[in-house]
Amino acid sequence: MRLSEKVALVTGAGRGIGRAIALRFSDEGANVVINDINVSSTESLVERLKRMGRKALAVGADVSNREEVEGMFERAIREFGRVDILVNNAGIRRDILIHKMSEDEWDAVININLKGSFNCAQAAQKYMVKQNYGKIINISSPVPATLVDRGQAHYSSASAGLQGLTKALALELGRYNINVNCIVPDFIDTEMTRDSARRVGLYLEDLKKAAAAQIALRRLGTVEDVANVALFLASDESSFTSGQVIQVKGGP
Ligand code: NAD
Repeated sequence: MRLSEKVALVTGAGRGIGRAIALRFSDEGANVVINDINVSSTESLVERLKRMGRKALAVGADVSNREEVEGMFERAIREFGRVDILVNNAGIRRDILIHKMSEDEWDAVININLKGSFNCAQAAQKYMVKQNYGKIINISSPVPATLVDRGQAHYSSASAGLQGLTKALALELGRYNINVNCIVPDFIDTEMTRDSARRVGLYLEDLKKAAAAQIALRRLGTVEDVANVALFLASDESSFTSGQVIQVKGGP
């Protein structure tokens, strides 16, 4: 198994891409801390991981809240003794045109998608530096957005910021044997994309057809496609890959 005895913390893992990553890591032997702001969404996953013979801990913290993030890492360390892998996956999308965007809407997306990842990376590196081992994986988005191309001033800024954060942290933490990489999934069918389609009045099926037609492989990506790339970046097979932004996309 590729992550035997490793401890991973995945944010926003109650559903969608984060859930698939937690399951994939667990398949490969990792014990997993399942974070989500909506803790009730994590219960069935924790049970499933335990049935797979893994240790799993659910922590209902808001990644934009620094105290809650600190507390989450302290709990993870108390429970598992170390954190080897951090996946900064928690994120929200609130598409809205710039002339209508309120400061609160801007702040919400930046604070969760970008600052949340900074909060978690900052908390994780304390332990990873001491261990002289760590893998940090940030989940960003295409900049500019590929399909729904308007209303993303905050979301795109956070996505670009995450790619910058990845490179800055890779440079700073590489000497401590910490790899930092970024995954940029293309259009993946999850609750987030369904909500966005609804919000802008698009029919999801039309959106999916339009997206698939533009993709060389003629299909949308799945949460498992993203999880497989995350697994590679979490494993020692990627030990000489750091500071990279890797697209999970079925064509150029
Ligand atoms: P999703 O909405 O299905 O899942 C996101 C999860 O994050 C939810 O369970 C939610 O409760 C949790 N969350 C939200 N705010 C949180 C907070 N403050 N603290 C902790 N947890 C919080 O989304 P998804 O489609 O699975 O996307 C996961 C990540 O991938 C996001 O960062 C998203 O921006 C990124 N992404 C998604 C796509 C896509 O097409 N779905 C494409 C590119 C990037």
